[in-house]
Amino acid sequence: MRIQRELLQNGKPYPFSFVITQEVLGDPRQELSGVISEAGLLAEGQIKLLNQTHLDVSFHLSGDMLYPCARCLKPTAFPCEFDYHETIDIPEDEQDEISILPAIEECLFVNEPFRVLCRPDCKGLCPRCGADLNDGPCDCPETEPETDPRMAALKALL
Ligand SMILES: [Zn+2]
Ligand SMILES: [Zn+2]
Repeated sequence: MRIQRELLQNGKPYPFSFVITQEVLGDPRQELSGVISEAGLLAEGQIKLLNQTHLDVSFHLSGDMLYPCARCLKPTAFPCEFDYHETIDIPEDEQDEISILPAIEECLFVNEPFRVLCRPDCKGLCPRCGADLNDGPCDCPETEPETDPRMAALKALL
């Protein structure tokens, strides 16, 4: 994930291929709502030194991310096939070694899915008891009990 600066010569592309796991990525900015699946993500691309302060980074990211289902919160695999190509500033404190992790994180962030469902007809969680309704109905009453005062008055007459 770290590339020695001395391996980079101006203008010459330096190819890389890394498997990124969740432990390696971390989430320092706490911006991602998903995590990388067990198998990791494959990042294949190249890095190119443009000048003393700028890099050209491009890569393809493939593999599965896990996002919580929008209805039942179950971790759900989401296949990723993302392309990234940016010119980035070399941070002041990374003059000897350059990390591609910030670029990976940014790529995942901008490509986050709006909504992931574990299956199209996911029934979600019961709003009252929190039971997963995909496992069958819970014990909560299906509807609010009748509280129509006219019905109550009618019953009192019978
Ligand atoms: Zn679900
Ligand atoms: Zn319930």
